[in-house]
Amino acid sequence: MNLPITRREFLNSTSAASAAAAMGHTLLNAPAANAQTGGQPKPVVIASSNGLQATAKAMSMIQQGADALDAVIAGVNLVEDDPNENSVGLGGLPNEDGVVELDSSVMHGPTGRGGSVAALRNIRNPSKVARLVMERTDHVLIVGEGALRFAKAHGFKEEDLLTEESREAWLKWKENLSRTDDWLPPHDIETRNISMGLQSALRNHGTINCNAIDLRGGISGCTTTSGLSFKIPGRVGDSPILGAGLYVDNEVGAAGSTGRGEANLLACSSVMVVEYMRQGNSPEQACLLACQRIVAQTKMKRLLDDQGRPKFNVNFYAINKRGEFGAAAIWSGEKFTVNTGEKESRRLDGAFLFKRNP
Ligand code: ASP
Repeated sequence: MNLPITRREFLNSTSAASAAAAMGHTLLNAPAANAQTGGQPKPVVIASSNGLQATAKAMSMIQQGADALDAVIAGVNLVEDDPNENSVGLGGLPNEDGVVELDSSVMHGPTGRGGSVAALRNIRNPSKVARLVMERTDHVLIVGEGALRFAKAHGFKEEDLLTEESREAWLKWKENLSRTDDWLPPHDIETRNISMGLQSALRNHGTINCNAIDLRGGISGCTTTSGLSFKIPGRVGDSPILGAGLYVDNEVGAAGSTGRGEANLLACSSVMVVEYMRQGNSPEQACLLACQRIVAQTKMKRLLDDQGRPKFNVNFYAINKRGEFGAAAIWSGEKFTVNTGEKESRRLDGAFLFKRNP
């Protein structure tokens, strides 16, 4: 097993965290590498690597007094509306039938509420619909046809979300379908050579998760995605599942995820990241511990390399109540974005458990 190497910027503390995580040790009460100093918690916005604009937008709203949930939703709307971002909203890669299906969740820490939608078609801003589920129903999650009818009842307009670029990517996949779909023949835990499973694990993933603290110390988050490309219609990933793709506790912090949703659904990792922070771990250490938990839980040989490590990646992004932030993935090479009050957001390397071979 390769020794883990961590984000350059926070070399000392992250090396310790990664090494401990890889060896199965829990780091309790270790100091955060990126604590913001000063008495009052300062606002912070963190997002996945595609969140440069989203984090900047959210921070500018927060600085003008916005609630963190308004800010993160406005931030991710920029990404949902971008036809060139093929993992979220308009232009997202479709399911195996060529239809774009979206998943999204929101959580509002100050009021302890959340809402989500799954397998929603034809609505480019599922994050706004998720928010309405939270605010205008007594439910938390609405899916599929019901979610579409709910969105239309609130005035959302249906549109074809497939761009030419996404359609062509889907057609190319369809024309080479046999080896790369998600249907598996009978197999057991020892089976290694199912190319479909492998391809699914490695196929296009992408999502935006964005979490923030506002000037009043309110913490909120949002995750929105078109999910795994070319998925079986109706497949729901981790993004709309509170506790998996997103979790917020206003007394502790927020965490969200991108990457292989199936692994995250089995580990409910975002709630675990928050719980690891509650135990005293820094956001980055908490993210690493969640990665470690997924690694320990992955037992199907088809998903493991010859050293027993997952072939897939999962990323976590977290902030705590004190305005500390961190991100980590199972495999190296992943970035995250953050804004602590600057005009321009920064894109940083996340910590990781395993270093990819160059
Ligand atoms: N987590 C998302 C899903 O599994 C996809 C991703 O983030 O890449 O639907």
